[in-house]
Amino acid sequence: MVPRIYESIIPEIHVPTNLSVHQFLTRYNPEDVAPDKVVWEEADGGRTMSHGGVRDEAAIGAACLTSALGLHPGDVVAIYAPNSINYGIAAHSVLWFGGVIAGINPMTSPYDMVHYLASCEPKVIITTPELRGRVDEALSKSKNLPFQPIIVLLDETSNALFPEFYGKKNYGRHQIPPLDLTGSDNRKHIAANMFSSGSSGKPKAVQWSHHTIIAHFVSVRASQPEQNSRLTREVLFVPFGHMFGLVAAVLNPVHCASHVVIMKQFEYLKYIEASARLRATIMRMVPPIALAIAKDPNIAKYDLTSVNVIMCAGATLQAEIVNQLQTIMGGCDILQGYGLSEAAVSALKPAKSIERSGSVGRLFPSHTLRVVDDNLNDVEVGQPGEALVKGPTVFLSYKNNPIATKEAFHDGWLRTGDVVKVDEDGYIWFLDRKKEMIKYKGNQVAPAELEDLLNSHPSVAESAVCGIFDSSQQTEVPVGYVCLNDSISESERSKVLKEIRQWVDGIVSPSKKLRGGVFYIAQIPKNPTGKVQRMLLPARLEAAAKIA
Ligand code: AMP
Repeated sequence: MVPRIYESIIPEIHVPTNLSVHQFLTRYNPEDVAPDKVVWEEADGGRTMSHGGVRDEAAIGAACLTSALGLHPGDVVAIYAPNSINYGIAAHSVLWFGGVIAGINPMTSPYDMVHYLASCEPKVIITTPELRGRVDEALSKSKNLPFQPIIVLLDETSNALFPEFYGKKNYGRHQIPPLDLTGSDNRKHIAANMFSSGSSGKPKAVQWSHHTIIAHFVSVRASQPEQNSRLTREVLFVPFGHMFGLVAAVLNPVHCASHVVIMKQFEYLKYIEASARLRATIMRMVPPIALAIAKDPNIAKYDLTSVNVIMCAGATLQAEIVNQLQTIMGGCDILQGYGLSEAAVSALKPAKSIERSGSVGRLFPSHTLRVVDDNLNDVEVGQPGEALVKGPTVFLSYKNNPIATKEAFHDGWLRTGDVVKVDEDGYIWFLDRKKEMIKYKGNQVAPAELEDLLNSHPSVAESAVCGIFDSSQQTEVPVGYVCLNDSISESERSKVLKEIRQWVDGIVSPSKKLRGGVFYIAQIPKNPTGKVQRMLLPARLEAAAKIA
């Protein structure tokens, strides 16, 4: 059968194959941005950083990391810190010398961090004095790391990025040139590790090459020039360690010289006030925030007339909320983007809500898409099926995991694990997730991780975790089902279930708490080969029955 391949309507883009990210950023300045143009401003404290300043500081930071710590291209540097200008510079410093950035969300608990560290094997962990204790705790629990990571403390508030080293040996003035990939192939040089559970199992380190990042810059700019220019102003709170934060807040402002106000963490009122004060041109968010704006009785008090675009991504935004937002925000475009850690921020160009309400848009340039059934046969136009994607933003491989990497691809096509439909004009609708992954307010939750933890509880014989949609919060929440050990009597059950939930919630990162509850189940549904059938868990069956 001949595959039905959807192509982008945007002309092919040229993505250089022989430049590192910073060689590309240094050469590519079509808007002739002045070095003193401010690209970052901190919401708390008002510290700013200019377009040229980022590069100067990154060259110094890179000199420090390589000379003081002996790091080489290809070495992984994990960053476990809240969003700040210095986090951004630390990330650019790592990329500058050819290191690999691995961003770990600062809300991650020590228990969860153990797995992330084992997946990315960092030589250095950059963290803040406040978070250091958690890193020490995670390291004390880590076994079999190939090397003991060096901990480097980041000063979040001054120009001395790494105070332990700056000042010594004049690192403060020394700069090195960026990684030179001239004559080499940037598709083979890893630049970043993102964490994603992919279609199944625990989180894995998703490897992006220098090519992946450059491809992202070029395709975003080609498909959404008006949202990514030196006139763009926005407030961003997404954690820099997530691929959305890394691209939108850390890398893109240096590429297109937009003005980004950095928030350490999300606080609704501060976000709205800062967007109004900045005269923001775009607001990028996840559905729970769109819901909060749609339901805010005081929203008219804020002047958001400068906002041309609200861009929502990461999870489904219900049509009802789109319509409410549209009324509140007047002529502003409410767009949805769709992407995954395995295919940069967005594989698809968003559609204007007026044209196709609910659609997540059309393909990015130089990307192609197929929609297939369970047997990997292409379905008819407009029919639902799994999205397969090819293109320059698709990731390279999962680190140290050839089996998961092989499973992620079919004939060179990335299997997204997402169910979509595409209409005759190439507009795409996200319909469902086939993969196990749960998304709590934009954060991934891997059922396999929570099941491992539940199974280690002395009262639990077996467990299964799934997600259910909580429309009051516009997000999925994880729900646990447990078979209890025979020693637990029926009268003890509810007390034990409560204890189990408290125990899990006290160990995992906040986004992974079992907010949907922990329930007793007599038997975990499994297929004949023993694979857990999460779709047959009561919460999923109930949700399916409501839709039917
Ligand atoms: P992450 O790798 O953490 O960004 O998660 C990627 C997953 O989030 C995708 O595979 C989808 O399941 C989901 N996702 C991303 N964008 C959307 C969207 N616009 N609508 C619904 N789900 C989305």
